[in-house]
Amino acid sequence: MQYVKGDILTQDGFKKGYLGFEENRIIDLRSGSPPEKPLAEGLIVPTFVNAHTHVGDSFLRKKNIKLPRNVEELVEAPNGLKHKLLRKASEEEIIDGMKTSIDEMIETGTSCLCDFREEGIKGVYQLRNALKDKKISSIILSRPRQMSYDRNEVELLLKNSFGIGLSSISDWKYSEIEKIAKHVKRKKKIFALHASEAVRENIDLILDLKPDFLVHMVSATESDLTCVKDENIPVVICPRSNAFFNLKINLKLMKKTGIDLMLGTDNAMLNTPNVLEELRHLKNSTRIFSTQELLNMITYTPRKVLNLDDCIHGLNSTCKFVVLDRESLKSVYISK
Ligand SMILES: [Zn+2]
Repeated sequence: MQYVKGDILTQDGFKKGYLGFEENRIIDLRSGSPPEKPLAEGLIVPTFVNAHTHVGDSFLRKKNIKLPRNVEELVEAPNGLKHKLLRKASEEEIIDGMKTSIDEMIETGTSCLCDFREEGIKGVYQLRNALKDKKISSIILSRPRQMSYDRNEVELLLKNSFGIGLSSISDWKYSEIEKIAKHVKRKKKIFALHASEAVRENIDLILDLKPDFLVHMVSATESDLTCVKDENIPVVICPRSNAFFNLKINLKLMKKTGIDLMLGTDNAMLNTPNVLEELRHLKNSTRIFSTQELLNMITYTPRKVLNLDDCIHGLNSTCKFVVLDRESLKSVYISK
């Protein structure tokens, strides 16, 4: 048996003690000191969930293209530069880029990613291809290829993914997005979308779609955030992506309203898909959140929202974990 020791992050906060494990199974879990020298010491946390990625554009990170720091010009569907470059790229190039990002996530302690797939059913197949034989679970949210509702297409997408993740209400004709949302809800799948990223969007229209979660909400007002909290809708924030676009996220307000927050690394062309880096960026740029609150954003909260059942539940659980240095929050041990 092997051991790690320190402060174990549970759903009720940190508990001092140690874990004894063998082949990914937790055999021993108690307070005090382990009978043998531990492999590592620090904060013992479940592996991470990256709650918002677009791994399809990973191949662009290597290209060293000067990318415009403007949401509309770079990522807005369907005419942003990213979408033009994706249309020009070969399938092999896209899948290779995805594989690189997936490997990077696995190596840095991420056990699940929630990806907003683009390019319709083709995009879903590409990611499923890239994920083959990789030790990571995935929540793939797909989207129609065109900016319109087609019953058969949505049916096919929902058969092959966990749900639909759309760009935003501003990019779409609202009646079309409404039909998609209703279809997804009928099938009891996940419906999520970007909201109020660079510009504020009408929160009533967004909430009428009954989203399971929202991404960004950077330009939302206090009353928008309160409405989101009242409806119990969690929000994924992507601080490094916001920083790239010079968007200032009001974290104080987010904390004040008490919204459940998760972290995502957003477009893989801009940042590494390592969600711990996202967390460390947040920790280094603000003191608003405690270490426990930050760690919950990449462990327990996304597991609850996405219905994942792997965790450090206790004896005999198969959860993988990461040990972090208490000060820097850099990983010192990642269970295999
Ligand atoms: Zn996004």
